[in-house]
Amino acid sequence: MTAAELRRASAQQLRDAYKAGSATAVELLAALYAAIDREDAQLGAWLYLRREEAQAEALAADTRYAAARAEGPAALAALPPLLGIPVALKDLVNLINTPTTAGSRILEGYVSPYDATIATRLKAAGAILLGKTNMDEFAMGSSTEFSAYKKTVNPWARDRVPGGSSGGSAAAVAAFHAPLSIGTDTGGSIRQPASLTGLVGMKPTYGRVSRYGIVAFASSLDQVGPFARTAHDAALLLHAISGRDAHDATSSTEPLDAQLLNLPAGDAAAAGIKGRRFALPKEYFVAGMEPGVEQAVREAVRALEAAGALVEEVSLPATEHALATYYIVAPAEASANLARFDGIRYGASGHGEGNLLDGYLATRGRGFGPEVRRRIMLGTYALSAGYYDAYYVKAQKVRTLIAQDFERVWAAGFDAIVAPTSPQVAWRFGAKMADPISMYLSDACTLPANMAGLPGVSIPCGLSEGLPVGLQLIGRPWSEASLLTIAAGYEALTATAAWRSVEPHDLAALSGGAT
Ligand code: GLN
Repeated sequence: MTAAELRRASAQQLRDAYKAGSATAVELLAALYAAIDREDAQLGAWLYLRREEAQAEALAADTRYAAARAEGPAALAALPPLLGIPVALKDLVNLINTPTTAGSRILEGYVSPYDATIATRLKAAGAILLGKTNMDEFAMGSSTEFSAYKKTVNPWARDRVPGGSSGGSAAAVAAFHAPLSIGTDTGGSIRQPASLTGLVGMKPTYGRVSRYGIVAFASSLDQVGPFARTAHDAALLLHAISGRDAHDATSSTEPLDAQLLNLPAGDAAAAGIKGRRFALPKEYFVAGMEPGVEQAVREAVRALEAAGALVEEVSLPATEHALATYYIVAPAEASANLARFDGIRYGASGHGEGNLLDGYLATRGRGFGPEVRRRIMLGTYALSAGYYDAYYVKAQKVRTLIAQDFERVWAAGFDAIVAPTSPQVAWRFGAKMADPISMYLSDACTLPANMAGLPGVSIPCGLSEGLPVGLQLIGRPWSEASLLTIAAGYEALTATAAWRSVEPHDLAALSGGAT
């Protein structure tokens, strides 16, 4: 394979090529880092590259493939599915002896003393960890413009945002700098950037993936999940990171679904759409939705119907309160989680310039950016005596109503909810920076799944004004394999659609021509 082919290959294709001996992890790694070196000054997806360790991991993977090839088919089949597959990590995943910034100045200079559980699992699975990607500070934001370090552009249009908060992880996979990446989704931060960059991005059921070693934003909402260019690849990565972890009491003992490693493909995948029952919630077609986005989503729904799915409109009446309640619950939890950044335990410190209080004020005043300060103030206010019952307790009650809306859909026998992911395509830099509420509104369709702890996936479903549109599937708890099976079915149905073969328009421009 040429360097251009290698960087575009899916994890599945790479695994097959490694097994056949037609590609090596070392040559893939060289192609990816060469692309990063040429393009990232423009793209801005990466905060830290792990070149030497990645090279050692690639060599080790190639050695294992060569040994297994010599031994025979059984040995090859026994190799872990992610062996030699590069993965990018959002820069809030702790990796031992590696900087973790969470996109914030307050963690500048901090080097992790341990591995997050997902990092341990990825290493054990033989994955190559390429480096850390840019993000909104502490995962607060929808455009990655709140990174304290740099701007990440959308490879589809350099004057537009990649979405957020996992914008670096999305841009890296969309620009073929990595076949897979890890993001976190507290209110939409995997699904929304996946939608804006034309990727598959999944937020698993709350508790499916360990949060141990992940910098916390809002602990009752945060989930780690995969970005990929295909449903099959997303399933491989999800499988590798999922499962009970003794270090995270909220991680579930729910057994892993082996189907994740065996999603149907081609005609079998397409045939699996027949007879499925999908609920189309009318509240998700929110005011302000762009007509081109609505059109692409409705066409995707028609394609599912044409393949034999039954689609019925439903009402989820508590949806309209999801945004308001999220912006009580998430900042409240964030204000508590971020109390630990006091200049004593981690990273940047303003202590030593006065008394203890002066040290706290200096550390936090300089270390936190505008959006994080806004959230801490909102959360501290919502939790303060006299307001706690009026805001926080009330929001928790509404959260139950949101969950009950979904439960009625599952009780009625639907397989999944189909909806838009983002009401808009990628917007221009700066368009929402002056008005925090307009930024918050971009998550209107993704927040409810976090409030209810449900799995959701965004999959590409076409282009509007030349920019990617995402279709969101939300399912009952622990139905990730079923959602990704449906996603694989939709991919098969639309495999020959013209929009599928369009590459991000500004890819060539990022490097001045070479791709
Ligand atoms: N955009 C939402 C927020 O700013 C969601 C972020 C996320 O999922 N991490 O809170």
